[in-house]
Amino acid sequence: MKLTVVGCSGSFPSAESACSSYLVEADGFRLLLDMGNGALGELQRHCGLYDLDAIYLSHLHADHCIDMCAYFVARYYRHEGGRCPPIPVYGPEGTEHRLTTAYADTPSASSMSEVFDFHTVKPGSFEIGPFSVHTEKVSHPVEAYGIRLEHGGRVLTYSGDTGVCDALDELARDADLFLCEAAFTYGKENIPDLHLNGREAGETATRAGARRLVLTHIPPWTDPQANLTDARETFAGPVDVAAPRQTYEI
Ligand SMILES: [Zn+2]
Ligand SMILES: [Zn+2]
Repeated sequence: MKLTVVGCSGSFPSAESACSSYLVEADGFRLLLDMGNGALGELQRHCGLYDLDAIYLSHLHADHCIDMCAYFVARYYRHEGGRCPPIPVYGPEGTEHRLTTAYADTPSASSMSEVFDFHTVKPGSFEIGPFSVHTEKVSHPVEAYGIRLEHGGRVLTYSGDTGVCDALDELARDADLFLCEAAFTYGKENIPDLHLNGREAGETATRAGARRLVLTHIPPWTDPQANLTDARETFAGPVDVAAPRQTYEI
């Protein structure tokens, strides 16, 4: 698997990065995890506008899904070749309604489904292209899912947004790369069931036996070095802070 960080800013975009969006490629299949604010522009650095094969939305907070409205325009009103065929979109219950409402004036109530083939994510195991996928509900104020992707004996886990929870420990079990949010700063923000701090991301990686930890979803008002230092205190393996355009071979 190849992971490309399209955007990694938490909660709102920074001058350097779009919000959450990660491209995962294997066997020529391109799966995009989340499409937050600004992600659609950045995505075009990495692949053609119409080269995605599937999209997974961890939850329906704007910083994870709102550029789907822009992507609707690109697919629905495509200038050459006419309207795009529906691409599989995996998201929580209500994804189509949420995106249609956010867009505000789609030609009809079902226009989104002309270019997006919506699949409702529930806890469980299924396939997306060449990936074996497992999702579990994580701890966040709205329905949110962490995802474990397996391919060729390798494991990539993405936390989405979450506080500390057993489900995340299980999703990250023995992961070769654990892409984990660390939106909060240890000792500064402490709201349960919302986000992790650097220490908690490291502790989760340690409990899960993950091999490598990449911290992400750090908001522009948070010092990434502080979270990196905190994570290194609780996880002995390699830890990075995600950066736009960074790639990882898993
Ligand atoms: Zn978020
Ligand atoms: Zn969120």
